Amino acid sequence: MRGPPTSGTPSAPAPQVYGHYKQSDAQNGPPPGAAALQRPPVSQTYTPAAVNLSGTQATYSQQFGAPPTSVQQVTNQMAGMQVGAALPTTAAPGYGVPPVSAAYTSTVPPSFPPAFPGALPPSRPPTGPQLSYGAPPPQAQSGFPNAPPSQPSSGFPGGPAPPPASAPSQQYPGPVPHQPPVSQPSPFHAAPPPAGFPPQPGAPPSPAGMPVTQLHHQSMSQANHVSLGPAQPGGMPPTGPPPQPGMQGYPPQQNGAFGQMRGPPQGYPAAYQQNYGGPPPPPAPAPAAQKRLDPDAIPSPIQVIEDDKANKSGEPFTTGVRGQAPPLVTTNFQVRDQGNASPHFVRCTAYNMPCTSDMAKQSQVPLAAVIKPLATLPADEAPPYLVDHGESGPIRCNRCKAYMCPYMQFIEGGRRFQCAFCSCVTEVPPHYFQHLDHTGKRVDCYERPELSLGSYEFLATVDYCKNNKVPQPPAFIFLIDVSYNAVKSGMVGIVCQELKTLLDYLPRENPEVESNVRVGFVTYNKVLHFYNVKSTLAQPQMMVVSDVADMFVPLLDGFLVSVSESRVVIESLLDKIPEMFADTRETETVFAPVIQAGLDALKAADCAGKLFIFHTSLPIAEAPGKLKNREDKKLVGTDKEKSLFQPQVSFYGNLAKECVAQGCCVDLFLFPNQYVDVATLAVVPVSTGGSVYKYRYFQAQTDQERFLNDLRRDVQKQMGFDAVMRVRTSTGIRATDFFGSFYMSNTTDVELAGLDCDKTVTVEFRHDDKLSEETGALIQCAVLYTSCNGQRRLRIHNMAVNCCAQLADLYRNCETDTIINFFTKYAYRSMLSSPTKTVRDSLVNQCAQILACYRKNCASPSSAGQLILPECMKLLPVYLNCVLKSDVLHPAADTSLDDRAYLRQLVSAMDVAESHVFFYPRLLPLHKMDVETDTLPVAVRDSEERLSKGGLYLLETGLHLFLWVGANAQQELLQNVFGVPAFGQIDPNMTSLPVLDNPYSKKLRGIVESFRTQRPRYMKLLVVKQEDKLELIFKHFLVEDKNGCGGASYVDFLCHMHKEIRQLLS
Ligand SMILES: [Zn+2]
Repeated sequence: MRGPPTSGTPSAPAPQVYGHYKQSDAQNGPPPGAAALQRPPVSQTYTPAAVNLSGTQATYSQQFGAPPTSVQQVTNQMAGMQVGAALPTTAAPGYGVPPVSAAYTSTVPPSFPPAFPGALPPSRPPTGPQLSYGAPPPQAQSGFPNAPPSQPSSGFPGGPAPPPASAPSQQYPGPVPHQPPVSQPSPFHAAPPPAGFPPQPGAPPSPAGMPVTQLHHQSMSQANHVSLGPAQPGGMPPTGPPPQPGMQGYPPQQNGAFGQMRGPPQGYPAAYQQNYGGPPPPPAPAPAAQKRLDPDAIPSPIQVIEDDKANKSGEPFTTGVRGQAPPLVTTNFQVRDQGNASPHFVRCTAYNMPCTSDMAKQSQVPLAAVIKPLATLPADEAPPYLVDHGESGPIRCNRCKAYMCPYMQFIEGGRRFQCAFCSCVTEVPPHYFQHLDHTGKRVDCYERPELSLGSYEFLATVDYCKNNKVPQPPAFIFLIDVSYNAVKSGMVGIVCQELKTLLDYLPRENPEVESNVRVGFVTYNKVLHFYNVKSTLAQPQMMVVSDVADMFVPLLDGFLVSVSESRVVIESLLDKIPEMFADTRETETVFAPVIQAGLDALKAADCAGKLFIFHTSLPIAEAPGKLKNREDKKLVGTDKEKSLFQPQVSFYGNLAKECVAQGCCVDLFLFPNQYVDVATLAVVPVSTGGSVYKYRYFQAQTDQERFLNDLRRDVQKQMGFDAVMRVRTSTGIRATDFFGSFYMSNTTDVELAGLDCDKTVTVEFRHDDKLSEETGALIQCAVLYTSCNGQRRLRIHNMAVNCCAQLADLYRNCETDTIINFFTKYAYRSMLSSPTKTVRDSLVNQCAQILACYRKNCASPSSAGQLILPECMKLLPVYLNCVLKSDVLHPAADTSLDDRAYLRQLVSAMDVAESHVFFYPRLLPLHKMDVETDTLPVAVRDSEERLSKGGLYLLETGLHLFLWVGANAQQELLQNVFGVPAFGQIDPNMTSLPVLDNPYSKKLRGIVESFRTQRPRYMKLLVVKQEDKLELIFKHFLVEDKNGCGGASYVDFLCHMHKEIRQLLS
């Protein structure tokens, strides 16, 4: 039964819009299942041969040494093994405490979103004059004001003149702030040297023979952007608009003004150029003649963050006011969905888009949205409602296929609606008909999420399913490297032990119900071992596939199983794996065949899913996707540097494409002791919406806590499978570019084999026509995905922004944190095609243009010696400098290429909160902590001169957590935190704080815990004693300071930006 005949097109459009399935099917050969079925488990390609797994190590390695046939089947030989054998000792210390249920309670999936109640949504707006704010207007022309009523004015230019900062000689007699003496530090080491690893046994000679084509793949996914080269602003109007009258009144900076930088402009740029971009500078040559710019007189990130908290955390942020920037990511705030998506889902660079592309070009402000479609909301916010329109499916526009949303305008008494995106008129299906009230609004408006809220979900019909078939529940496949390094480091034992518990926490939507996710297991080194864990077996069976050049799955029945049915067999297997490989001498691994195997297994089972690969080394064994060590530090800084971030061979790009077509998401856990070529190994994870985790020099004792917490979170987190995201826009703008972990086979559909709650997709918009101030601009992001219980759904996020004809409105309503997030992703991708220096220069240039345009068109006339920054962008220089100094764009001499490649892909899928703390770490003075309240101490700026020798500080980057202890810290403080009376007695190797029974210790441990739960990755705690050698690593994160590899200080960089701006203006 279809929808009623009058319903227009509800069912037909799906295949057109999500037509990629057809393409994928066509591109990827036989339909799922066919390939696997061509190879029955028993065929002439391999001869079953019994292998006694319970035999000695010698027997075992013989079996793998030179397998006579491509496949050896092991049947029932495991029966003789001891079940419940002890784990290898490597995993024992500190382990063995299985995660109790409490550890999981915080991440138990939220209960299934209830159907939308008939009652009014909680966010019902007040009636009366403000009616038009509460919900989208029935008429596009009426309703929203052109600008929010309470705009923050953009600052100082027209306001009271800030005290000049140019009399610093009095306040700052010394040219450079006095720095505490630092002992001669040893060279910076990003990680401890590998300790305790025996030398690897000689690798067996690789068989010569199979030719491997080494092609240089051009780019990871698509190369839509070649460089950051900004468009020329062209002729700026000679006279800008008059000074904005309403620009007074923004809370002045507590620490004084910065608006006038009347320092000697000649001096700084020279000093700056010396330090910037080049090799580490020589010791500052007597800057006594220079007047040091007062750091307290330049914009302070802490001040901005605290002001925002003070002004905006008090009352909920209502999304109904178009064009209003939300509170900063550092502010805790509640959201009331009044027709636009919560900032937890969508953040924009600009909430007032320029009306014309000329204006946009002139300002150079990027127009982009950072979208986190499946974001986990704070506990006090309800997840999006699920709307079920029955068999006819969601209501959509006939022409552009936009989904029903609060901005659709009902006409002709409610019988038709006009699309807010393309203006096409579509008939309302009879079952969806409703009368309109006197304002033209449907009377059921507030009873239907899709008519009143910014975010909601639709239950998708079979038309939205691949091959018009309801999807199978997804599967998780665990593929574990069992080569020498993997076993010796303890990784194999830890993974197997953990999985026994973790399998009870597979994702599910209702915590009361068992998860539908099936599981499978593979181990590998140079060959692959598949395991039959069928519930009817007494013992697991192993099948070895050594023909890695032509990978296939040797068993179908019994490979993917339900945990509850096969629990006994699975536990037996997980007990045995560490034993079986305990004495392995195999050091070589394959990698691509491992992914291929998981992919084929999903194909055979005709389902989507996720591969968890635990891998240690560069795959040098003879196999498809074999890699060579190409780490060449000499290329860093040259025009050829970009090649190091491109995949080494094209094989992985093609494999990724196949994975995406099947909905096979790949998560990669790396445990490298040396170069593993992250740039190449990460191609499939990055293209399939997966994650990469890296534990360099992994040692069970020091790293398992971090690894296990990452693994637990990764396995349990809410995610969608086999997803497609489409961003639609109203006339005048369109989505032109996308950044994140996904694959695109055409220019509009963002394909995500997996999409989890932590992943963001950044979308850039460009004009293709003039925009109107009255109607604003509208964005609708629709994500079609399969939930973890196999339900096909659509998640919709709507976002309306203002359009402005005055540049000042643009500058008043933008968000610097989001702009930085966008610029970073843009720059990090540009590294694939341009020299790093070019990328950095382009960033500086574009930001200078943004600020110069403001100065020229929006600020009141003033002397050229003044640096005038828009209020919303006054932190652009400091944050930009952090991006420029990041390890990816400006590595220290000992930053490994793998680290850079790892961070590059990591940042590319970060949301705004993560990128913010990553580039400008949070630094808390713990000695100022008030143990009587829940509040955190106010953070201090990331600069050494803000550290007190008597203090204790916590620094958080989202990936690292440091506890810095000043050499003069009070005895009582040390006793409370570390349980020792003296600085010298603090153990710098501790990885967790002692549990002490005093309020100070309790509160500090609580803070550490809460920081960890806020971030997608577990942060290991490092204790840094002042003047200890670890302090060099810590200082790397004091991002306002000059760093050891030539990165400029904030003060110097601000002067440099000022010079750039002046040049643009003259
Ligand atoms: Zn339309």
